[in-house]
Amino acid sequence: MKYQSVLDEAFEAMENAYAPYSNYHVGACVLCKDGTTFKGANIENASYGAANCGERSAIFAAYSNGYRKNDIEAIAIVTDGDRIGAPCGICRQVLSELLDQDAPIILSNGKETVTKTIRELLPMQFSGEDLK
Ligand code: ZN
Repeated sequence: MKYQSVLDEAFEAMENAYAPYSNYHVGACVLCKDGTTFKGANIENASYGAANCGERSAIFAAYSNGYRKNDIEAIAIVTDGDRIGAPCGICRQVLSELLDQDAPIILSNGKETVTKTIRELLPMQFSGEDLK
C-alpha cells in the first residue's frame, strides 16, 4: 500500500495516546510533501471537554511547524477499536479547513483500511467563505 509507512507511524503514535477515561486509543500521522511527518495521539483530561483528538494533535503539530494545507500530502488516522475510527465532527470541521479537499485520509484499525477525502467525509462544509 502506497501509504503503509504513514500508517505505521500512526500506529506508533497510538502507543502514546493518553486515554485513561475512554481507553480508546487513536494515533495519527500527517505526511508532508517534502517527506516530513508529524504524529499525534488523543490526549484526554479529567475535564472531558479539554481533550484533543489524535488527528487534530497531528495536523496542529504540522501547522505549528510552519506547514500548510498545500504542503500536506496525506493523513493516516488509526485506532485499536473494533471499527475503523472515523473522525468526529469537530475533527472533520478542522480537517476541512486545514487539509486539501482531495488529500487522502487513510483510516485503519489494523484489520480494515479505507481511504477517504474530507470532501467525502464532510459534505456541505461551513468555511471561511461563509464569513465574508
Ligand atoms: Zn475528533
